[in-house]
Amino acid sequence: MGAPAAIAIHGGAGTILRSSLTAEQEARYLDELRSVVTAGNEVLAQGGSALDAVSLAVSLLEDCPLFNAGKGAVFTNAGTMEMDASIMDGKTRRAGGVACIQYVRNPVRAARAVMEHSPHVLMVGKGAEEFLRQHGLAFEDSTYFYTEERHAQLLRVQQESGMLLDHDAANLLTMASEQAAEPAPLDPDKKFGTVGAVALDLHGNLAAATSTGGMTNKLPGRVGDTPMLGAGCYADNQTAALSATGTGEAFMRSLALHDIAAQMQYLGLSLEQAASNVVTNKLPLYEGQGGIIGIDASGNIVLPFNTEGMYRAYQRVGEAAFAAIYAS
Ligand code: ASP
Repeated sequence: MGAPAAIAIHGGAGTILRSSLTAEQEARYLDELRSVVTAGNEVLAQGGSALDAVSLAVSLLEDCPLFNAGKGAVFTNAGTMEMDASIMDGKTRRAGGVACIQYVRNPVRAARAVMEHSPHVLMVGKGAEEFLRQHGLAFEDSTYFYTEERHAQLLRVQQESGMLLDHDAANLLTMASEQAAEPAPLDPDKKFGTVGAVALDLHGNLAAATSTGGMTNKLPGRVGDTPMLGAGCYADNQTAALSATGTGEAFMRSLALHDIAAQMQYLGLSLEQAASNVVTNKLPLYEGQGGIIGIDASGNIVLPFNTEGMYRAYQRVGEAAFAAIYAS
């Protein structure tokens, strides 16, 4: 006992400008972020594991339609929802993930079931679904996942005929509803949405979890970085717990999160130095945009991003929660 326990969460990064959210919307996001980080922090304060804290935080973010994961997941170009998630335990370095799954209420719990009840790391398709049913995971029908906002985003994105990541699509929608003269041109390099959590518990153990609906209008069958260890999610007690959001293909090609851990392990860099190297210097080489959240075994927390905003929050046991959206 005695590690400086803390949790950090994110709800996606992207072109999130002050001008794109009303005061009410901003307050809703901040309230939700604070309430989720507080719930995760409570688990840690009670002596619970980092793994339990990140599972709870991500499942609460999945239950909230404001974020692109679980309820509120974005639509594929076929009008379906296909979700990716993963979880990793820094103590044992065990991990689990699911990709392209449908109708599972909490994909992060599905990822945890793969980690804890199968000999595998990543499961997809019918086999995954059968396995999850056998292990009592909750399933919902498509009406549970459907939200008017996401559907309108899909229609709008399809009109513009581009693939779009989550929060920029929301921008377009806001503009449309405000009767803006012209919707902004789509810029697929700047649109993101995913949820994630990283934690350090009182026992000194780290864990990370990430969950997403991916990108609006993506091709059915597309898998992003979220269920890929070292790309969208990573945890190792020797280095850090990390969760990413952004252009998934760039995080996959650069193995961004493993790169951070490797810089810490082999070069002796701090979490802050390594994370900033990757977000500021490496991701742009892959045209990667987005952000990461991380925590190390000493309780240092980082939340760097190279976009206009990232929904983010953290809380240390015994301290107040911090939540923010914009870069400055
Ligand atoms: N990284 C996610 C994906 O590519 C999207 C995001 O974080 O916005 O599926």
